[in-house]
Amino acid sequence: MAQKILIVEDEVNIAELLHLYLEKEGYETQTAPDGGKAVELFRSFAPDLVLLDIMLPVMDGWSVLKKIRAESKTPVIMLTAKGETGDKVTGLEQGADDYIVKPFETKEVLARIHAVLRRTGGESESGGEKKLAFDRLVINLDAYELLVDGKRVDTPPKELELLYHLASAPNRVFTRNQLLDEVWGFDYFGDSRTVDVHIKRLREKLEGISDQWSLKTVWGVGYKFEVGTP
Ligand code: CA
Repeated sequence: MAQKILIVEDEVNIAELLHLYLEKEGYETQTAPDGGKAVELFRSFAPDLVLLDIMLPVMDGWSVLKKIRAESKTPVIMLTAKGETGDKVTGLEQGADDYIVKPFETKEVLARIHAVLRRTGGESESGGEKKLAFDRLVINLDAYELLVDGKRVDTPPKELELLYHLASAPNRVFTRNQLLDEVWGFDYFGDSRTVDVHIKRLREKLEGISDQWSLKTVWGVGYKFEVGTP
């Protein structure tokens, strides 16, 4: 199940850029060109995160944020124009989780989205927990538990951390070196075969459980936790 992002932006070029980029990164997105449509889509699309422009037709970003906060804690990242310095303070006071100043780099947007989703607990309902849920699978890094259909599968800590790392950014490809740095740490002396061995063991545990996700090898690059059919 891909995480869903609602893009609220009236500038067509920016909306389209974000849409294409985030879909490529494995998110499911919908775009709203005005504040009214934003509130409507927030309810029907039920996003995991909202990117919210401030200057919008029909209803501005502040009013949209207020309506969202009246009914949910879904993370919201405000998109503010350069020079509107007061926006940051106002936004955070009114319950926004972060803000990005336009013009921005798409890479920065992605980094903010990852950070906010990680901080707010991503898809999990419990908020703040390091827990990811997929079809028949729960990866819980707080309890260091891997659950398949609610039953615990014995998994060494590093395997679990590796799986959690991959699954926290579904469909994103990680190189072996990235995984070594990010999961094992910079000072680890192992080589990239370490990653391969751990992936192999994880695959043995996870084989045939669901057709909605899988640990994929991307030849010549690395690995990804693939969700849904591309
Ligand atoms: Ca605007």
